[in-house]
Amino acid sequence: MGIVNTVLGPVPTEALGITAVHEHVAFGQHGWSLESDFWVTESEIIAAAERNIREYKRLGGRTYVDLTAIGQHRDVERYRVIARTTGINFVACTGFWTGTGVRPYFWDKSVEYLTDLFVKELTVGIDDTNVKAGVIKVGVSRGGLSELDQRIYKAAARAAVMTGVAVLTHLSTEAERQMDLFEGEGLSLDRVVIGHADAGVDIDRRRDLAVAERGAYVGIDNIGYETEKHPRVPWAQARRERLGQLLDLLEAGYAHRVAVSADADCVPLGWVSPPHSVAELLNRFVPDLREEGVGEDVIQQLLVTNPANLLTMRTVV
Ligand SMILES: [Zn+2]
Repeated sequence: MGIVNTVLGPVPTEALGITAVHEHVAFGQHGWSLESDFWVTESEIIAAAERNIREYKRLGGRTYVDLTAIGQHRDVERYRVIARTTGINFVACTGFWTGTGVRPYFWDKSVEYLTDLFVKELTVGIDDTNVKAGVIKVGVSRGGLSELDQRIYKAAARAAVMTGVAVLTHLSTEAERQMDLFEGEGLSLDRVVIGHADAGVDIDRRRDLAVAERGAYVGIDNIGYETEKHPRVPWAQARRERLGQLLDLLEAGYAHRVAVSADADCVPLGWVSPPHSVAELLNRFVPDLREEGVGEDVIQQLLVTNPANLLTMRTVV
């Protein structure tokens, strides 16, 4: 028994059910709205999110974790509307996508400052609301962990230790260094997802096993970004190859160390996505698992038990 912060307040772990741990209502880089090709209204964003999340819920989904970080068009007022109209448990995050996406205001901030910022968003509220974040997002810049990335990682680890929440990362690049940074600040790796292990540009099955062996979760969380779809994005992977990557982990005994999600944007802001939705976790990915002979107990572990273990806030001593 424990609790998880959602945008409508804390819910008990038992209420989570089927959970997608890495999703986006609308993710974009600063400046995207200057490109008129991508203009979209608030009501269009909400309608698209409601459509995808209702379909996900109709198929059994109960909890949706939005990992859109500070400065990437995170919007808790929007999330509250979607949570109310769809009835989903909606979890928002604090943290940053990668150092590359951090607004200049934060570039010179100390680990202590960033820790305070994350803790404030986890315990008081995001922006000027009383909506508390439920997880922390961090990430590796393209090209590797920058000095700013490392400051953010240390702050995320400290805030996670202080509040009991989990940390989910963008990219599995330099996985060992990522885990060293977390452990160096006293964060147990069973509170960490090393994310996007299934991004087509960065597949390394030995690394996946090493991440699971050290006790962190391997994020198979780009499910549905497939090379078979158009337009093809750099992080796409062939549908069967992603399944094979996951089956390797299951066969090695690491079903309890995998975090699955679709990373689908309901509305991509300023970029073009192939057709994609969180619902694909349930109407495409689960049938694929069954076809491969994966048992219902393992499917339950991936979709319900692992997210519950991850999202439930640890008691802080
Ligand atoms: Zn993402």
